[in-house]
Amino acid sequence: ATLQAPPLGGLLDDIVGKHRPRREAGSVPGNIPFLAEIPFDRFGIAVATTSGEVFSSGDAHVPFSIQSISKVFTLAMALQGGKAGALWQRVLREPSGTSFNSLVQLEVEHGIPRNPFINAGALVVTDHLMEEAPDAATQLLRFVTEQAGNGPEDTLPGPFIDEAAAASELARSSRNLALAHFLKDFGNLRRPAEAVVESYVRQCSIMMSCVELATAGLFLARDGQGARGSVLSPSEAKRIGSIMLTCGMYDAAGEFAYRVGLPGKSGVGGGILVIVPGKCTICVWSPRLDAKGNSLAGTAALAELSDLTGWSVF
Ligand code: GLN
Repeated sequence: ATLQAPPLGGLLDDIVGKHRPRREAGSVPGNIPFLAEIPFDRFGIAVATTSGEVFSSGDAHVPFSIQSISKVFTLAMALQGGKAGALWQRVLREPSGTSFNSLVQLEVEHGIPRNPFINAGALVVTDHLMEEAPDAATQLLRFVTEQAGNGPEDTLPGPFIDEAAAASELARSSRNLALAHFLKDFGNLRRPAEAVVESYVRQCSIMMSCVELATAGLFLARDGQGARGSVLSPSEAKRIGSIMLTCGMYDAAGEFAYRVGLPGKSGVGGGILVIVPGKCTICVWSPRLDAKGNSLAGTAALAELSDLTGWSVF
């Protein structure tokens, strides 16, 4: 049910006014130095409706590092056209309950990652994509650029890979390399570990704004229908939403489902993409993170927005 709420534009302005951080709080990821330099008071929000309208407020047009939000789009690419193939023998669909870059379960589960939205799972998805497209990061950039479209809200320069940020993260990738080598040892990686990690890090380094991300994710709220026709079948779109709900926020997935009631995917760049099936997508961005690596102010804003609008899958 939709509760009594002010018109969406005004509502988003209110959310920005209330949730834009006023003082430094939360943390920044240690392995990606440039993210620490983003001012703590950045806050943007965008809502893209299934009928083609876009509402936004705050820093909604400022490009930021999408980081793990990329994992939603690489999974969509892997499932497109029913060509998942053996992927689901190589990665599970269970919440991990451990941090996004944990190595622990990988040994217990004999090299099969718990889900495609933790780093180990995303490395397997990347390896899978690289079979058809060795330059999977460029392929992903093309995919999100096409889905972000050229609507009236279109902003230059559009999605791009921040190569300097990628190089700097790559130089500090011991943990992701460890995950990749572990996968390789269990026979769950076909390409060289270094090549898969490089592609994965470049995917994470794509820069997009809230408006672009909300627009690019619309196919997930629209039964798989993207900017230029079908991206996924309705059942595949449903499945990605389900995995977002159970695994999209790592070991905070339960807490996020409790507070927001919607499928979401976060990244350590401070972005969160949320799906309201049949209605809209929401992207919020604020760079400082909670202990689980999810945007502190972004999560609080989404909890309030879902309460005010009644948007929820429940
Ligand atoms: N590039 C980051 C990493 O691999 C992405 C993690 C994230 O956004 N949760 O550590």
